[in-house]
Amino acid sequence: MIVKEFLNKAVSRRGFLGSAGAGAAGLAAAGLGFQQADAAPLEPPANWDYEADVVVIGYGGAGTCAAIEAAEAGASVLAIEKTTTAGGNTSHSGGIVYLGGGTPLQKMHGFDDTPENMYNYLVAQMGPTADKNRIQIYSEQSVGHYDWLTQRGVVFGQKFWEGKVVQPPSEEGGLSFSGNEANSPYSEIAIPMPRGHMPAGAGAQVYAPLKATADKLPIQTIYNTQGERLVVDKSGAVVGIQVRSGIPDPGVPNATPVALSGEIFVKANKGVILTTGGFQFNPEMLAQYAPWYLSAFPLGGPSQVDDGSGIKMGQSVGAALYDLSFASPWKFVYAPGEMCKCILVDQVGARFVGESRYGQDVGDLIIRRNGGVAWQIFDTPTYEAAKAAGGFFSEPVGTADTVEELAASINVDPAILANTVSFYNEQAKQGKDPLFLKHEEFLTPLETGPFLAFDFGVSTGIAFITLGGLRCTENAEVINSFGEIIPGLYSAGKTAPGINPEYYVSGSAVGDGTFWGRAAGRAAAAAASR
Ligand SMILES: Cc1cc2nc3c(=O)[nH]c(=O)nc-3n(C[C@H](O)[C@H](O)[C@H](O)COP(=O)(O)OP(=O)(O)OC[C@H]3O[C@@H](n4cnc5c(N)ncnc54)[C@H](O)[C@@H]3O)c2cc1C
Repeated sequence: MIVKEFLNKAVSRRGFLGSAGAGAAGLAAAGLGFQQADAAPLEPPANWDYEADVVVIGYGGAGTCAAIEAAEAGASVLAIEKTTTAGGNTSHSGGIVYLGGGTPLQKMHGFDDTPENMYNYLVAQMGPTADKNRIQIYSEQSVGHYDWLTQRGVVFGQKFWEGKVVQPPSEEGGLSFSGNEANSPYSEIAIPMPRGHMPAGAGAQVYAPLKATADKLPIQTIYNTQGERLVVDKSGAVVGIQVRSGIPDPGVPNATPVALSGEIFVKANKGVILTTGGFQFNPEMLAQYAPWYLSAFPLGGPSQVDDGSGIKMGQSVGAALYDLSFASPWKFVYAPGEMCKCILVDQVGARFVGESRYGQDVGDLIIRRNGGVAWQIFDTPTYEAAKAAGGFFSEPVGTADTVEELAASINVDPAILANTVSFYNEQAKQGKDPLFLKHEEFLTPLETGPFLAFDFGVSTGIAFITLGGLRCTENAEVINSFGEIIPGLYSAGKTAPGINPEYYVSGSAVGDGTFWGRAAGRAAAAAASR
């Protein structure tokens, strides 16, 4: 029952945020879901049904980039995809790609970013468990990755969107600040630079050119087929995979599955690459590793495929797990920036975050610190100004002439709420926020009633993706808990985060996945045949 209730809550971020137009109908398959497969490894069969140098499991963003690189390096490539179509969440995403260090688009708008500046920001932002070596590689090669994507047909929107945007309009795309770059303390650690690069047409237009590139290469693809169990030889090397074909796609219920059916054994002469996404649609895995997020909405495209199958396959051959307790639950106070002039208070009436912070900071604190509770408090001038700037408001849960009276509507102690507002006002008048370092631009005393309270808790909608996965080397080789490479096994994307196992800023999933998908493809193609 819990599984069904959970899947019924599924939502697409684009629909949910209402910011990027239609397309990602995350509710389409709610309640159906895919069957979980047993991931235990197998011995090599007497006969193989298929054979390729490189076998890619999961043909989304990371998988397609892996296939392209492997094929361009001369390897024969077979890509196995569980759903009816290629693209995964990447093609349903907002399409922001986190790139910097001096991309042509940054330069065009006069932003003098450097790899070092990008590295300094990302190391501070991505948290203590992120791999600094991979952040360095990503920062140093980010311009190269921009070139690789654009040379393969990705066209980023040319406009720069100033101020606080969750993402540029879908029909235009463009460049924006897509994380906490301009928020203190990050703005003191690295010069704030916009790094969110987005094409017009969002994720569909990140993915379509990559798919078109892949279609011109000798890459064999099999759809409606799921990778289930890795095949391992006596030495412990991964030499293939058992897949199951004829899997109906709940995201495309009327599609005819391909003719193949049943168990199929695929030999991988050089390597298997697991690129099956995360596990936000697997309530059992969430309950085990990241139970806080069961109260939030798992985010995904129509097929809701992120059930952790790749992570479980990796685990089955001894892969080390990396940060499975982290997710990115988004709750944005902005846009517009005027909305950040409110204060957010918790279940006792105290502030708990700088209101202009990136949505993961806000959402994660609401879920993990506040037990799902948060209230947004405005006075009349800040409310009117935010409304005039285009801010979205639901019905207030309370309106009162004084802060003390407002407290009753959100069930907090009047003295605590009054104290919170009075301390905030005192500091805001001096342009300071010593508690949460909100920028002066968003500091306006809340003094003029009526005061308004809005529900901002988890029940008003917080969507999330999981962040953790398999631990890999910088070449996307999967490693075990002793740091040893598991021969023949590679992974990337949300199955094996490169720079963002703990924290996400918009663009870092598609950026990271496409980048390390490419690394996996190159490394597998360069491996010796078994
Ligand atoms: C609505 C929405 C908006 C988003 N916006 C952004 C954004 O703007 N920027 C950003 O960086 N991130 C964004 N994200 C997150 C981002 O899209 C994903 O984290 C990222 O695309 C994951 O890439 P991937 O290659 O790991 O997985 P995917 O692109 O999802 O590909 C995984 C593929 O594996 C297939 N698969 C799964 N299991 C199996 C199996 N056992 N066998 C065979 N195939 C399998 C799936 O069907 C899928 O095609 C968004 C996500 C959503 C849902």
